[in-house]
Amino acid sequence: MDLGLSGRVAVVTGGSSGIGLAACRLLLDEGADVALCGRDATRLAAAAAELTARHGAARVLAQRCDVLVKAEVEAFAQGVREWRGRCDLLVNNAGQGRVSTFADTTDDDWRDELELKFFSQIHPIRAFRPLLDESDSPAIVGVNSLLAYQPEPHMVCTSAARAGVQSLLKSLARELAPRIRVNAILIGLVDSGQWQRRYDAAGTTESREKWFAALAREKGIPLGRLGDPAEAARAILFLGSPAASYVTGAQLEVSGGVSRFI
Ligand code: NDP
Repeated sequence: MDLGLSGRVAVVTGGSSGIGLAACRLLLDEGADVALCGRDATRLAAAAAELTARHGAARVLAQRCDVLVKAEVEAFAQGVREWRGRCDLLVNNAGQGRVSTFADTTDDDWRDELELKFFSQIHPIRAFRPLLDESDSPAIVGVNSLLAYQPEPHMVCTSAARAGVQSLLKSLARELAPRIRVNAILIGLVDSGQWQRRYDAAGTTESREKWFAALAREKGIPLGRLGDPAEAARAILFLGSPAASYVTGAQLEVSGGVSRFI
Protein backbone atom coordinates (compact mmCIF):
# COMPACT_ATOMS: atom_id res chain seq x y z
CA MET A 1 0.00 0.00 0.00
CA ASP A 2 1.30 3.45 -0.90
CA LEU A 3 0.83 5.78 2.06
CA GLY A 4 1.05 8.78 -0.26
CA LEU A 5 3.69 10.50 1.87
CA SER A 6 6.25 11.08 -0.86
CA GLY A 7 6.89 14.79 -1.38
CA ARG A 8 4.89 15.73 1.73
CA VAL A 9 6.13 18.01 4.51
CA ALA A 10 5.92 16.59 8.03
CA VAL A 11 6.62 18.30 11.34
CA VAL A 12 7.50 16.18 14.36
CA THR A 13 7.74 17.75 17.81
CA GLY A 14 10.10 15.87 20.07
CA GLY A 15 11.73 14.35 17.00
CA SER A 16 15.15 13.99 18.59
CA SER A 17 14.53 10.76 20.50
CA GLY A 18 12.38 7.65 20.86
CA ILE A 19 9.04 7.55 19.05
CA GLY A 20 9.51 10.97 17.45
CA LEU A 21 12.91 10.11 16.01
CA ALA A 22 11.56 6.78 14.73
CA ALA A 23 8.72 8.68 13.04
CA CYS A 24 11.24 11.05 11.40
CA ARG A 25 13.23 8.09 10.07
CA LEU A 26 10.16 6.40 8.59
CA LEU A 27 8.74 9.61 7.15
CA LEU A 28 12.01 10.27 5.35
CA ASP A 29 12.11 6.65 4.14
CA GLU A 30 8.61 7.21 2.71
CA GLY A 31 9.79 10.28 0.81
CA ALA A 32 8.47 13.06 3.07
CA ASP A 33 10.59 16.03 4.07
CA VAL A 34 10.80 16.37 7.85
CA ALA A 35 11.10 19.25 10.31
CA LEU A 36 11.82 18.23 13.88
CA CYS A 37 12.31 20.01 17.17
CA GLY A 38 13.41 19.34 20.74
CA ARG A 39 14.77 21.36 23.66
CA ASP A 40 18.23 19.87 24.02
CA ALA A 41 20.38 21.27 21.21
CA THR A 42 22.99 18.49 21.43
CA ARG A 43 20.43 15.70 21.21
CA LEU A 44 18.67 17.50 18.36
CA ALA A 45 21.92 17.96 16.45
CA ALA A 46 22.76 14.27 16.87
CA ALA A 47 19.34 13.26 15.52
CA ALA A 48 19.63 15.70 12.63
CA ALA A 49 23.11 14.40 11.79
CA GLU A 50 21.81 10.84 11.64
CA LEU A 51 18.85 11.80 9.45
CA THR A 52 20.79 14.02 7.05
CA ALA A 53 23.58 11.43 6.67
CA ARG A 54 20.98 9.05 5.26
CA HIS A 55 18.67 11.40 3.41
CA GLY A 56 20.61 14.62 2.72
CA ALA A 57 20.50 17.99 4.46
CA ALA A 58 17.94 19.45 2.05
CA ARG A 59 15.17 17.16 3.32
CA VAL A 60 15.61 17.81 7.04
CA LEU A 61 15.02 20.93 9.14
CA ALA A 62 16.00 20.70 12.81
CA GLN A 63 15.13 23.67 14.99
CA ARG A 64 15.53 23.93 18.75
CA CYS A 65 12.13 24.64 20.29
CA ASP A 66 10.38 24.03 23.60
CA VAL A 67 6.74 23.38 22.73
CA LEU A 68 5.71 25.04 25.99
CA VAL A 69 7.22 28.36 24.92
CA LYS A 70 4.76 29.91 22.51
CA ALA A 71 7.30 32.25 20.89
CA GLU A 72 9.65 29.32 20.18
CA VAL A 73 6.85 27.30 18.59
CA GLU A 74 5.90 30.29 16.45
CA ALA A 75 9.55 30.67 15.42
CA PHE A 76 9.64 26.95 14.52
CA ALA A 77 6.52 27.40 12.37
CA GLN A 78 8.12 30.43 10.73
CA GLY A 79 11.21 28.32 10.04
CA VAL A 80 9.05 25.69 8.32
CA ARG A 81 7.20 28.41 6.38
CA GLU A 82 10.48 29.74 5.01
CA TRP A 83 11.74 26.21 4.33
CA ARG A 84 8.75 24.64 2.57
CA GLY A 85 5.79 27.04 2.86
CA ARG A 86 3.36 24.43 4.10
CA CYS A 87 2.83 21.53 6.50
CA ASP A 88 0.99 18.38 5.44
CA LEU A 89 1.39 16.49 8.71
CA LEU A 90 1.87 17.76 12.26
CA VAL A 91 2.89 15.09 14.76
CA ASN A 92 2.46 16.35 18.32
CA ASN A 93 4.76 13.95 20.08
CA ALA A 94 6.92 16.00 22.48
CA GLY A 95 6.56 15.17 26.13
CA GLN A 96 7.08 12.68 28.90
CA GLY A 97 5.11 11.00 31.66
CA ARG A 98 5.10 11.82 35.38
CA VAL A 99 5.18 9.01 37.92
CA SER A 100 3.35 10.10 41.09
CA THR A 101 0.33 9.19 43.20
CA PHE A 102 -2.25 11.75 44.34
CA ALA A 103 -0.54 11.91 47.75
CA ASP A 104 2.82 12.88 46.34
CA THR A 105 1.67 15.19 43.54
CA THR A 106 1.83 18.84 44.58
CA ASP A 107 -0.39 21.58 43.15
CA ASP A 108 2.58 22.83 41.14
CA ASP A 109 3.17 19.32 39.79
CA TRP A 110 -0.46 19.25 38.64
CA ARG A 111 -0.10 22.62 36.93
CA ASP A 112 3.15 21.56 35.23
CA GLU A 113 1.69 18.30 34.00
CA LEU A 114 -1.55 19.83 32.73
CA GLU A 115 0.45 22.55 30.99
CA LEU A 116 2.78 20.02 29.35
CA LYS A 117 0.05 17.72 28.11
CA PHE A 118 -2.35 20.41 26.87
CA PHE A 119 0.01 23.07 25.56
CA SER A 120 2.24 20.56 23.77
CA GLN A 121 -0.86 20.14 21.59
CA ILE A 122 -2.31 23.66 21.70
CA HIS A 123 0.79 25.70 20.85
CA PRO A 124 1.85 23.66 17.78
CA ILE A 125 -1.71 23.37 16.48
CA ARG A 126 -2.21 27.14 16.69
CA ALA A 127 1.20 27.93 15.20
CA PHE A 128 1.05 25.40 12.35
CA ARG A 129 -2.64 25.87 11.48
CA PRO A 130 -1.92 28.41 8.70
CA LEU A 131 0.68 26.05 7.23
CA LEU A 132 -1.70 23.09 7.44
CA ASP A 133 -4.21 25.24 5.58
CA GLU A 134 -1.71 25.44 2.70
CA SER A 135 -1.85 21.63 2.29
CA ASP A 136 -4.27 19.70 0.07
CA SER A 137 -4.37 16.82 2.56
CA PRO A 138 -3.53 18.12 6.04
CA ALA A 139 -3.45 15.94 9.14
CA ILE A 140 -2.56 16.13 12.81
CA VAL A 141 -1.56 13.11 14.89
CA GLY A 142 -1.43 13.45 18.66
CA VAL A 143 0.81 10.97 20.44
CA ASN A 144 -1.22 10.11 23.49
CA SER A 145 -1.25 7.32 26.02
CA LEU A 146 -3.41 4.38 26.92
CA LEU A 147 -3.59 6.07 30.32
CA ALA A 148 -6.26 8.31 28.78
CA TYR A 149 -8.67 5.35 28.95
CA GLN A 150 -7.00 3.17 31.56
CA PRO A 151 -5.72 5.41 34.36
CA GLU A 152 -2.99 4.20 36.70
CA PRO A 153 -2.95 5.38 40.34
CA HIS A 154 0.85 5.68 40.26
CA MET A 155 0.59 8.10 37.30
CA VAL A 156 -2.45 9.99 38.53
CA CYS A 157 -1.93 13.40 36.95
CA THR A 158 -0.54 12.07 33.67
CA SER A 159 -3.59 9.81 33.38
CA ALA A 160 -6.03 12.65 34.04
CA ALA A 161 -4.23 14.96 31.62
CA ARG A 162 -4.13 12.26 28.94
CA ALA A 163 -7.92 11.82 29.17
CA GLY A 164 -8.32 15.56 28.73
CA VAL A 165 -6.03 15.60 25.71
CA GLN A 166 -8.05 12.80 24.13
CA SER A 167 -11.16 14.92 24.59
CA LEU A 168 -9.39 17.93 23.05
CA LEU A 169 -8.31 15.92 19.99
CA LYS A 170 -11.82 14.55 19.54
CA SER A 171 -13.27 18.07 19.64
CA LEU A 172 -10.64 19.32 17.20
CA ALA A 173 -11.44 16.51 14.78
CA ARG A 174 -14.93 18.01 14.48
CA GLU A 175 -13.94 21.67 14.56
CA LEU A 176 -11.20 21.31 11.94
CA ALA A 177 -13.22 19.00 9.66
CA PRO A 178 -13.52 18.68 6.76
CA ARG A 179 -10.14 20.39 6.11
CA ILE A 180 -7.81 18.84 8.66
CA ARG A 181 -7.96 15.29 9.97
CA VAL A 182 -7.07 14.85 13.65
CA ASN A 183 -6.26 11.45 15.15
CA ALA A 184 -4.42 9.99 18.11
CA ILE A 185 -2.28 7.02 18.88
CA LEU A 186 -2.48 5.51 22.33
CA ILE A 187 0.87 4.21 23.50
CA GLY A 188 1.17 1.48 26.10
CA LEU A 189 4.84 0.90 26.96
CA VAL A 190 7.40 1.67 24.27
CA ASP A 191 11.12 1.22 24.83
CA SER A 192 12.26 4.80 24.33
CA GLY A 193 14.39 7.46 26.02
CA GLN A 194 11.83 7.67 28.84
CA TRP A 195 12.20 4.01 29.77
CA GLN A 196 15.96 4.11 29.37
CA ARG A 197 16.00 6.95 31.93
CA ARG A 198 13.82 4.91 34.29
CA TYR A 199 16.14 1.92 33.89
CA ASP A 200 19.16 4.14 34.61
CA ALA A 201 17.42 5.68 37.63
CA ALA A 202 16.57 2.24 39.04
CA GLY A 203 20.32 1.73 39.60
CA THR A 204 19.86 -2.00 39.14
CA THR A 205 22.64 -4.49 38.43
CA GLU A 206 20.21 -6.48 36.30
CA SER A 207 20.87 -6.43 32.54
CA ARG A 208 18.74 -4.16 30.41
CA GLU A 209 17.15 -7.19 28.69
CA LYS A 210 16.19 -8.86 31.98
CA TRP A 211 14.89 -5.62 33.50
CA PHE A 212 12.69 -4.88 30.48
CA ALA A 213 11.46 -8.50 30.30
CA ALA A 214 10.49 -8.34 33.98
CA LEU A 215 8.73 -5.02 33.36
CA ALA A 216 6.68 -6.56 30.52
CA ARG A 217 5.71 -9.47 32.80
CA GLU A 218 4.81 -7.15 35.67
CA LYS A 219 2.63 -5.02 33.37
CA GLY A 220 0.95 -8.14 31.91
CA ILE A 221 1.62 -7.19 28.30
CA PRO A 222 0.05 -9.99 26.22
CA LEU A 223 2.67 -9.70 23.46
CA GLY A 224 5.30 -10.22 26.16
CA ARG A 225 7.54 -7.21 25.57
CA LEU A 226 7.67 -3.43 25.33
CA GLY A 227 7.05 -1.91 21.95
CA ASP A 228 9.76 -0.63 19.65
CA PRO A 229 9.60 3.09 18.74
CA ALA A 230 9.30 2.11 15.07
CA GLU A 231 6.14 0.14 15.87
CA ALA A 232 4.54 3.29 17.29
CA ALA A 233 5.89 5.35 14.41
CA ARG A 234 4.23 3.10 11.82
CA ALA A 235 0.83 3.84 13.41
CA ILE A 236 1.61 7.58 13.33
CA LEU A 237 2.53 7.40 9.67
CA PHE A 238 -0.64 5.58 8.71
CA LEU A 239 -2.98 7.96 10.56
CA GLY A 240 -1.10 10.99 9.28
CA SER A 241 -0.94 9.85 5.67
CA PRO A 242 -3.35 10.38 2.76
CA ALA A 243 -3.93 6.60 2.97
CA ALA A 244 -6.07 7.32 6.06
CA SER A 245 -8.13 9.89 4.16
CA TYR A 246 -11.47 8.82 5.74
CA VAL A 247 -10.15 8.50 9.29
CA THR A 248 -10.57 11.39 11.72
CA GLY A 249 -11.40 11.61 15.41
CA ALA A 250 -10.00 8.10 15.83
CA GLN A 251 -7.49 6.56 18.17
CA LEU A 252 -5.21 3.66 17.40
CA GLU A 253 -3.85 1.66 20.30
CA VAL A 254 -0.21 0.54 20.10
CA SER A 255 0.18 -1.34 23.33
CA GLY A 256 0.91 -5.02 22.73
CA GLY A 257 -2.66 -5.73 23.86
CA VAL A 258 -2.32 -4.43 27.41
CA SER A 259 -5.65 -2.57 27.51
CA ARG A 260 -8.56 -4.13 29.40
CA PHE A 261 -11.39 -1.94 28.12
CA ILE A 262 -13.71 -2.74 25.22
P1 NDP B 1 11.67 10.19 24.62
O1 NDP B 1 12.10 10.75 25.93
O2 NDP B 1 12.53 9.19 23.96
O3 NDP B 1 11.41 11.38 23.60
C1 NDP B 1 10.74 12.56 23.97
C2 NDP B 1 11.05 13.63 22.95
O4 NDP B 1 10.29 14.81 23.26
C3 NDP B 1 12.51 14.03 22.95
O5 NDP B 1 12.89 14.36 21.63
C4 NDP B 1 12.49 15.29 23.83
O6 NDP B 1 13.64 16.08 23.54
C5 NDP B 1 11.20 15.90 23.38
N1 NDP B 1 10.59 16.85 24.33
C6 NDP B 1 10.20 16.63 25.59
N2 NDP B 1 9.66 17.74 26.12
C7 NDP B 1 9.71 18.68 25.14
C8 NDP B 1 9.31 20.03 25.06
N3 NDP B 1 8.75 20.66 26.10
N4 NDP B 1 9.49 20.70 23.91
C9 NDP B 1 10.05 20.08 22.84
N5 NDP B 1 10.46 18.80 22.85
C10 NDP B 1 10.29 18.11 23.99
O7 NDP B 1 10.23 9.60 24.92
P2 NDP B 1 9.13 8.84 24.03
O8 NDP B 1 9.58 8.66 22.65
O9 NDP B 1 8.68 7.70 24.80
O10 NDP B 1 7.96 9.92 24.09
C11 NDP B 1 7.22 10.37 22.98
C12 NDP B 1 5.80 10.67 23.42
O11 NDP B 1 5.14 9.45 23.70
C13 NDP B 1 5.71 11.53 24.67
O12 NDP B 1 4.69 12.47 24.55
C14 NDP B 1 5.38 10.50 25.74
O13 NDP B 1 4.75 11.05 26.86
C15 NDP B 1 4.47 9.57 24.93
N6 NDP B 1 4.29 8.26 25.56
C16 NDP B 1 5.33 7.40 25.63
C17 NDP B 1 5.19 6.17 26.28
C18 NDP B 1 6.28 5.16 26.33
O14 NDP B 1 6.11 4.09 26.92
N7 NDP B 1 7.44 5.42 25.74
C19 NDP B 1 3.91 5.82 26.91
C20 NDP B 1 2.87 6.78 26.72
C21 NDP B 1 3.08 7.97 26.09
P3 NDP B 1 14.23 17.12 24.64
O15 NDP B 1 14.18 16.44 25.97
O16 NDP B 1 15.59 17.43 24.15
O17 NDP B 1 13.31 18.30 24.58
